[in-house]
Parts: sequence; structure tokens; C-alpha cells
Amino acid sequence: MSWRVAVSLETLLHQIDARFPERSKLSDGGIGDAAHQTRDSDHNPWYGPGIVTARDFTHDPAHGLDIQEVADQLLDSRDPRIKYVIANRRIATRNDWQWGPYDGANPHEKHFHLSVVADPLCDDPQNWELPVLGEPPDGGGVVPTTDFVTWGTGVNVRAEPRLDAPVVTVLPGPTQVRVQCQTRGDTVSTAGHANDAWSFVPLLGGYVSNIFIDHPAAWLPGVGEC
Ligand SMILES: [Zn+2]
Repeated sequence: MSWRVAVSLETLLHQIDARFPERSKLSDGGIGDAAHQTRDSDHNPWYGPGIVTARDFTHDPAHGLDIQEVADQLLDSRDPRIKYVIANRRIATRNDWQWGPYDGANPHEKHFHLSVVADPLCDDPQNWELPVLGEPPDGGGVVPTTDFVTWGTGVNVRAEPRLDAPVVTVLPGPTQVRVQCQTRGDTVSTAGHANDAWSFVPLLGGYVSNIFIDHPAAWLPGVGEC
């Protein structure tokens, strides 16, 4: 079976390796070992076309990587790619971002575990923004956020910003989307509003009518034109 690790986890691995070049990788891991494979584990390539949605990073404070520090900063980042984090006998999930007891067989004192969400966001290649990883290369200006949330159920994502364009996926409910750009297309009317702007979401591979973006403005602020 062919498999790969989710792109977002490879991004974090590269960032951590670049920041802590001397660090130990003794307890690192992506694909599940024999023990993992007998269990239901995010280390197994169960999502999509053989995608592993978890990675372990070794505790090596002598070379800069303190798992509690990194794990705490991951929670503080509220990065939408995170599903849950385990470190030092505790687990925290995206539900409330709070640490709670973890009583799994492995106490996770030699590594921390990061699971990312089992949806297209797991392949978002953007850098993780954690203080321990250092300032972003541009010197740390405020990075404009282009993350929005959709509303409604059964929202179509289309290959082009037109109502006769093929549907590439359907959003079952409110979904966080990272908008790359927006453009004018067919006018969509619902709930007494009409809007001809469409947002391009690369991770979904298509366009969502802005009428389904939960934002008061028809044309989204801070998002360029396609
Ligand atoms: Zn793990």
C-alpha cells in the first residue's frame, strides 16, 4: 500500500529540523509501527488516498526541543489544522484547546504527538506560527488572515465561479476555508441577499459563492482579486 504523511506535518518537521538541527529523532515517527497498526491510530494511512495524519517529535530539551513548550504553543496557535496534541500524559483537542488527562499505554514523555484533521486542510503547506520556531522570514509583520467560515448546509464548491460549472465538492455544514483570491461570477441569491463574488479556495479545488461566506461584506476585505 502506498502512503504518505500529510503535507502540513511535513512542513512542521522541516521547520523543527531547521530550527533545532542537532535534535534527537529517536522517538520521531510518522507511519505507524507494528504496535500502532494493530490499533485505530492516526499513524495509519487511513484517510483519503493513504494519508497519515499524525507525527511524533522527540523530546530533546538539551538541543532546544522541549515537547511541553512546543505542544503548549501549538494549542495557543489555534491552528485550524490541529486535531489533537498529546504530551506528558495529557491530551488536548481542537474542541476546547485545554489539557486533560491522557491514560494511553504510552505516556508521551519522550515525544509529543500531533494529529491533524482528516480533511483537505491536513495538506495545507503553510508554515506553522509558533514563537519557538522563530520569527517569520519577513521580520514578523502581521500576517493577513484569509481564513473565513462558511454557513449553511450542502454548499457547493464549483470548478468555476459559475452556477453551471461542475461541483467539485459539497460542504455539509459550516467549514473553515482559506481564501486565496476572489472574483466576479454568476449572481447567487439566497435568504434575501444576492452576491456575484466568488472565493477561490485552493484546498477545496474550486470556488464558493461569497454569499455562503460568513462575513457581512459581499466583497471580502483583505482578499485580492483572482
Ligand atoms: Zn504518536
